[in-house]
Amino acid sequence: MSFGVPDYIFRDYLSVTPEFLTSLGVKLVICDIDNTIAPYEVAEPDEVIGAWFASMKAAGIRFVFVSNNHSERADLFNKTLGLTVYANAKKPLTGALTRALTDAGLTPKDGASLGDQIFTDVLAGQFKGLKTILVPPIKDKTNFFFRAKRFLERPFIASYFRKHPDDELKAYWNSKTRNLKEKHG
Ligand SMILES: [Mg+2]
Repeated sequence: MSFGVPDYIFRDYLSVTPEFLTSLGVKLVICDIDNTIAPYEVAEPDEVIGAWFASMKAAGIRFVFVSNNHSERADLFNKTLGLTVYANAKKPLTGALTRALTDAGLTPKDGASLGDQIFTDVLAGQFKGLKTILVPPIKDKTNFFFRAKRFLERPFIASYFRKHPDDELKAYWNSKTRNLKEKHG
């Protein structure tokens, strides 16, 4: 494992299946909210999101939300899902991930992280010894900070695709993280 390079990249959270997680031996997923499950401006999950979490629960895979966003946002999003929420998580610091594993009675080998950012979600997962799954941002913010962050992620993404060639997925990643100003106004 090289720090910053995720173990897996998927097209979106819906492409991550209970069968895949089970095959890895994952019992608990430390899941990001913003831009992983829903864009920032979507306050509550829709039926598609609800059905995906239900399919995970049915397969015996537990999920918790670990979000760097504030608890009002995370709690409202979680209201109908009923997961355990760790807000203000300060990823890539691992305190919230440690609490989530302890609360679940599990160890890092049982866990995976799922998120859209290398410098928060992937690094926190790797520092904690979890398997790491990255998805492209659903809809990035367009400010300088986010564009700079996506620029700095590029070498890590390139390294992943050298190890796991997938031209279509690579092009899709690029389409979701480049020229955001033109795309989203
Ligand atoms: Mg995110």
